[in-house]
Amino acid sequence: MAGLVCAARSRQLGATPLVSEKGDRPGGSMLLSSGVIWRYRTFEDFRRECPGGDELLQRLVWERLDDALAWLESLGAPVVSRETGNPLTAGWRFDPRGLTDALARAAGDLRVCTSFEAFAARSDPGPLVLATGGFQGDRTLVARHITREPLALRANAWSAGDGLRFAVERGAELSAGLGEFYGRNMADADFGERDFVSLAQLYARHARVVNERGGEFVREPVAWSETNVVQATARQPGARAWYVLSESALGERVRDRSVRSMVEAARAAGAPVVAADQLPFPAPPGAVVAVRVRAAITHTIGGLRVDERARVLREGGSLLEGVYAAGVDAGGASTGGYASGLAQALALGLVAAEEICN
Ligand SMILES: Cc1cc2nc3c(=O)[nH]c(=O)nc-3n(C[C@H](O)[C@H](O)[C@H](O)COP(=O)(O)OP(=O)(O)OC[C@H]3O[C@@H](n4cnc5c(N)ncnc54)[C@H](O)[C@@H]3O)c2cc1C
Repeated sequence: MAGLVCAARSRQLGATPLVSEKGDRPGGSMLLSSGVIWRYRTFEDFRRECPGGDELLQRLVWERLDDALAWLESLGAPVVSRETGNPLTAGWRFDPRGLTDALARAAGDLRVCTSFEAFAARSDPGPLVLATGGFQGDRTLVARHITREPLALRANAWSAGDGLRFAVERGAELSAGLGEFYGRNMADADFGERDFVSLAQLYARHARVVNERGGEFVREPVAWSETNVVQATARQPGARAWYVLSESALGERVRDRSVRSMVEAARAAGAPVVAADQLPFPAPPGAVVAVRVRAAITHTIGGLRVDERARVLREGGSLLEGVYAAGVDAGGASTGGYASGLAQALALGLVAAEEICN
């Protein structure tokens, strides 16, 4: 998303950008997403929800988002809804396929199956905007910064830290929050891109959450996004947990789905769904059923340290000349919580284009 946004905006401003896309199709994780581009309703909410985040980056995303949504619509991106359905947030929902197509059209010269490093190695490459979508696809980086447990991937397959490595080799500084990520606990079954939403088990708030030994490990209240539960699960043996449910919990709803329907989707996919008395440890009183979940990573939250003009910073605060980072390659905007990755990609992609072209 960030790369296409940056290219589309810089073309409008008179530049002739080239988008290199490592995958065999444009759109990255944006194409797989639910397309909800959002901000917290108030800036104070953003600060409270993501207290460790870089305040300048947060302000940038928060202040630019509303105009940026209208800009996307002006490119022909189809708006499905002008609400998020979450009272804490404001934003629009786009059709991800239509959004990708509109941005790819506006971006111009887009080369799939080409990694950016080949262009960056040219003698006069011009400004470079790193927008490779985080490092969740690289097991070594995930093991170093997040967990050695076997996290599942819930994202495009190509975002493997290439932007981060490129900049760090040239002296870039890393942001805060490198151990944090956004993801979901998924039904513990084989799943592919088409199952990323349907097999998500988003009801920790109604469950007793225990590890394979029956121990409770979530030390704080379950966040509305449940990302704190996912991040804690990622550190448990096998990156797995059980969600243990009572009859009344099965009747609850989360957003537009019932807990029972999410459990049934897990069962149908072949994930372990057992009667509470079949668990390998004593079930809590009132429990009727348990579902085994596996932590899955969608994108990293830590990354390259950038300023509010998307410029990559070196250790000590000087600039890495000619290098910018946008989207989730830029770290530290939502440290300590969760905020819209699409919004971050949109706002930083625009800022990078304007910084380079103006
Ligand atoms: C199932 C699902 C649902 C989601 N729903 C939402 C939602 O509703 N709202 C929201 O805000 N976020 C959502 N997200 C997260 C959102 O998709 C990401 O935060 C967002 O796409 C990040 O934008 P980006 O530009 O940084 O990365 P991406 O959009 O992933 O783009 C990165 C691109 O870089 C390419 N790339 C990687 N390495 C190289 C290289 N070396 N050279 C060239 N190209 C390279 C990749 O192939 C990819 O196309 C969802 C994600 C998933 C998977």
